[in-house]
Amino acid sequence: MATLDELPLRPELRGRTPYGAPQVPATHRLNTNENPYPLPPELLGDLAKALEQAAVTLNRYPDRDAIELRTELARYLTRTTGQPLEAREVWAANGSNEVLQEILQAFGGAGRSALGFTPSYSMHPIIAAGTGTGWADGHRRDDFTIDAAAAAAQVRALRPDVVFVTSPNNPTGTAVALETIRAIYDATTYDDGAGVVVVDEAYAEFARAGTPSALTLLPGRPRLIVSRTMSKAFGMAGLRLGYLAADAAVVDALQLVRLPYHLSSLTQAAALTALAHTDALLATVDAVKAQRDRIVAALPALGLTSVPSDANFVLFGHFADAHAAWQALLDRGVLVRDVGLPGWLRVTAGTAEETTAFLMALAAVRAELG
Ligand code: PMP
Repeated sequence: MATLDELPLRPELRGRTPYGAPQVPATHRLNTNENPYPLPPELLGDLAKALEQAAVTLNRYPDRDAIELRTELARYLTRTTGQPLEAREVWAANGSNEVLQEILQAFGGAGRSALGFTPSYSMHPIIAAGTGTGWADGHRRDDFTIDAAAAAAQVRALRPDVVFVTSPNNPTGTAVALETIRAIYDATTYDDGAGVVVVDEAYAEFARAGTPSALTLLPGRPRLIVSRTMSKAFGMAGLRLGYLAADAAVVDALQLVRLPYHLSSLTQAAALTALAHTDALLATVDAVKAQRDRIVAALPALGLTSVPSDANFVLFGHFADAHAAWQALLDRGVLVRDVGLPGWLRVTAGTAEETTAFLMALAAVRAELG
């Protein structure tokens, strides 16, 4: 086998490693923010029927525009956020990562740039690199919130073509105030052009009461894009279905870069079936939020603190050596995420049993490492 150095790889990809959490065996896997609950049995039965039916026409290409699926996604967003949306304002792809990649293919690319407020979802700069888009790190305060005026000033200074705002943010769980998103959007009008603002709402369903979705900001903002996923609250990470809502013109722009028939008939059938069971799937969200709040409440007694979280995970610390604590937790069967932030680790809120196992392991680690 040749080495990568022997291949004519694009220079910006040289020396990089593929994105991904370490896939190490552990009794309790609390490292990738999945929903721990298995799918309801009645959904499993309907999925089997829907996939069998879709299989009959697998000799044909799927609906290229996924109209029925986009209609149901629009209906879901309308119902849960009160923001009226139609199929032409919704686009879907294989995971929200693909949605984000299509956004950068259409609005980023060679000679263009993106800005994101780090620490945030580390795939944003990776997708930027993959699409030849330049990247700039935006500032957060020490408590990981975004200062609206500072963010707007940074946008005006750098004039990025794409701005990413992750809300609730990964890995910190921090929700971004709508006034901040408004200020960032207003700053993306330049003398000689404009930028798009992408609000990555992968964890929106876990937000605490009073944390509204940026979907309510869409009217009158044709360059605002809100992305969502079925990987987290819906508990369908294996399905690979992400989507966005935006002005219909943005959806038309994305059609220029999407691969034809990118969503298989099986994916479309499975996603439609899952959406028909939305209420049963989302019934787990409150249970997960309760475990998140239980983790937050238990940390001070262990001499630890956390960042306020509107997501299904908690960033907790401070550790003198976060990686040593990560390893010590793993040695006790609990896999959390070392996101590379000095002093901090991230744990996914799972079932009550998982939380108990995590908190017991953490107490033992504190006793051992201090
Ligand atoms: N955005 C954020 C903030 C995420 O944390 C993730 C998954 N970790 C994604 C997008 C991508 O999710 P998916 O491709 O499964 O929809």
